[in-house]
Amino acid sequence: MIDKLLSGLGVPRSAYTSGSFPLHTPIDGSRLGTIALDDPATVAAKIERARDAFDVWRTVPPPRRGELIRRFSEVLRRNKAALGELVSWETGKIAQEGQGEVQEMIDICDFAVGLSRQLYGLTIASERPGHHMRETWHPLGVVGVISAFNFPAAVWSWNAALALVTGNSVIWKPSEKTPLTALASQALLEQAMHGFDDAPPQLSQVSVGDRAAGQALAADPRVALVSATGSTRMGREVGQCVAARFGRSILELGGNNAMILAPSADLALAVRATLFAAVGTAGQRCTTLRRLIAHESVKDEIVTRLKSAYAKVRIGHPLQGSLVGPLIDKAGYEAMQDALEQARSQGGKVYGGERQLQSEFPDAYYVAPAIVEMPRQTEVVRHETFAPILYILGYREIGEAIALNNAVPHGLSSCIFTTDIREAELFQSALGSDCGIANVNIGTSGAEIGGAFGGEKETGGGRESGSDAWKAYMRRQTNTINYSHELPLAQGINFD
Ligand code: NAD
Repeated sequence: MIDKLLSGLGVPRSAYTSGSFPLHTPIDGSRLGTIALDDPATVAAKIERARDAFDVWRTVPPPRRGELIRRFSEVLRRNKAALGELVSWETGKIAQEGQGEVQEMIDICDFAVGLSRQLYGLTIASERPGHHMRETWHPLGVVGVISAFNFPAAVWSWNAALALVTGNSVIWKPSEKTPLTALASQALLEQAMHGFDDAPPQLSQVSVGDRAAGQALAADPRVALVSATGSTRMGREVGQCVAARFGRSILELGGNNAMILAPSADLALAVRATLFAAVGTAGQRCTTLRRLIAHESVKDEIVTRLKSAYAKVRIGHPLQGSLVGPLIDKAGYEAMQDALEQARSQGGKVYGGERQLQSEFPDAYYVAPAIVEMPRQTEVVRHETFAPILYILGYREIGEAIALNNAVPHGLSSCIFTTDIREAELFQSALGSDCGIANVNIGTSGAEIGGAFGGEKETGGGRESGSDAWKAYMRRQTNTINYSHELPLAQGINFD
């Protein structure tokens, strides 16, 4: 099965049968292959080749670079079903979400193609006669991408599509839990590069490795930008390492995302949004809804409705029509059970959370998504547990709800369900949510690529994907041009 899928996507069998690092699917725990991990010396050699590729690629006109990404998006369109299925096998995502992940790759490619003709700088008024000023944007160098298991392809494509059209070369260190999707995505990009003579051969490389390979990328001064997606623990290490050498980083880290449910909310809409945001991807999205802050007047009603909606959720094999697949591994399951235990000891009432389908899949970790009514925002609620746990909290007035939303270390995504325009605007104002994403009447997860994606505080502060996120992949240069015969100095300084 997996052989057919991978060979169709252009990954040679030797790539996942040599080496000694075992890969298992979370769907039933069976082995997908064994893989060789890059050591730091191999990473260093790849960085050198990426540096050579950059020297060539930066001279290619941006719209021509965009043409490569256009070709890639066509290859992705042709392979969407297969690559999406591979995402499901490696991560346990349901079919819809595996396909959605590839669609997101296609979307960012389309965005990047347009962008390749819009890398605009400014012209700026000069205070000196016979002068003008402008801003130009230049490629940065080698871009290192470190990605997490839960978006094994889309996160790379957000980075790679922008990094490539802006003239950089890319080295991708995927999660050691999901390297096959990376090898397949790279093989598809190589298909797009085939016959495209402007692209140097090592323009994009994959470095399959564990933390040590990621550290080698972070520490190497030849890597101009490290874009790292994963836990806050990882971001703290990578961020400090890159900063110590004055490199640049984009950090896309954890989230502890909340919904405020106001008295005027459309409850039917809120239940549907909560279900997708809290239960989708088995609670393993950085934007997963983890806290529901409900007004006291609607709290009991929403808990009753959610319990009944949760009871109908189909849990099971993600490629056979379920809505909730497995957790990534045993450690993910244990972290969930540990958090539920803590929640109980901190006064929480827990519904669900038990292991499911154990006799059918003894080596996989399916769980019933949990709802936990909490007396207040205790320690366990304030931290991200990467599993489907939704904590329910109450509030009496909107200021209190916003304070609860903001009183956690992370600052990724947030939303409010209300039909009161004052509350909606307040939530999105400077006095409102402190997150990078603040939505109205839509859940915390499932962002479109057109906006800048990322968050504040312990989420790391990075922005990727749409809007002007491309600027992080380029260096800005300010130019002053004197077309006069005089040499006036700025600030009126006389140096004669
Ligand atoms: P993780 O931090 O365990 O691993 C992420 C990546 O970092 C992997 O490739 C890993 O090998 C590498 N890594 C780990 N330690 C490193 C180090 N010291 N130096 C260099 N590289 C290192 O995260 P995970 O379990 O794969 O993913 C789940 C986490 O990722 C959650 O916290 C989730 O919220 C977060 N996430 C964030 C976003 C976002 O865009 N903000 C998106 C997806 C996932």
